[in-house]
Amino acid sequence: MNTKQTLSALLLCSSVFVAKAQYTSKPPEVSPAPMKPDMTEIWEPEVKVVTPAKVLGDAPSDAIILFNGKNLDQWVSQKDTSKPAPWKIVNNDHMEVAPGSGGIQTKLKFGDCQLHIEWSAPDVVESEGQGRGNSGVFFQNRYELQILDSYNNRTYRNGQAGSIYKDHAPLVNAMRTPLEWNTYDVIYTAPRFKPDGSLDYPARITVLHNGVLIQNNVTINGLTLYIGLHHYPEAHGEDVISLQDHGNKTQFRNIWLRKL
Ligand code: MG
Repeated sequence: MNTKQTLSALLLCSSVFVAKAQYTSKPPEVSPAPMKPDMTEIWEPEVKVVTPAKVLGDAPSDAIILFNGKNLDQWVSQKDTSKPAPWKIVNNDHMEVAPGSGGIQTKLKFGDCQLHIEWSAPDVVESEGQGRGNSGVFFQNRYELQILDSYNNRTYRNGQAGSIYKDHAPLVNAMRTPLEWNTYDVIYTAPRFKPDGSLDYPARITVLHNGVLIQNNVTINGLTLYIGLHHYPEAHGEDVISLQDHGNKTQFRNIWLRKL
């Protein structure tokens, strides 16, 4: 091929490329019918009505009430699940960890959910770091959203209040004082497993602490471990939500959940 032929071939290639680029940048030339507004409206099934609470933070009409301050009927002891939850009800208003009695867990099992939980660090400030007001919410009895008195209490960032323990630090520290109540509003997506038991996709979690976003749809990297890298050792289905007894008198009230 001489120079002229080479130039012609290059021009042909570039004209094909330009023609193709022009074609793909245009809308389809043949439309089945002119679009009308109702062609993109979906009416059925009608969206279910949920009545929101009068006070923001209280349970909407479709929530499962896990704790309303009066009794622990929805909970059992983790040491012996045939026994009632051993924590203390205070003033028909909230519950308090009975240190040394062990954690408590729900009778019901859950997967994907929206959870609202209110908690307070112990009124008397004792100890420091992980020893101050430590508890935790375990989704599916495995993945811990840390509860800690992180008001003027430095510890490792992926272990403070609002962390996914030793997995993700919270985006900010939105902690209130030990004499005030905190809220967690959580959107939790359970992990999925393949038929052979291997992980299909990991759990995800979004958390607002006192209305402030602290976990933004983060991937939970596995079973919460105190020592070692987190991973998913086994497939599992729906499971209980548990609250940790870490030896501190952490308080809880107004716990409700919506299945998603
Ligand atoms: Mg904890």
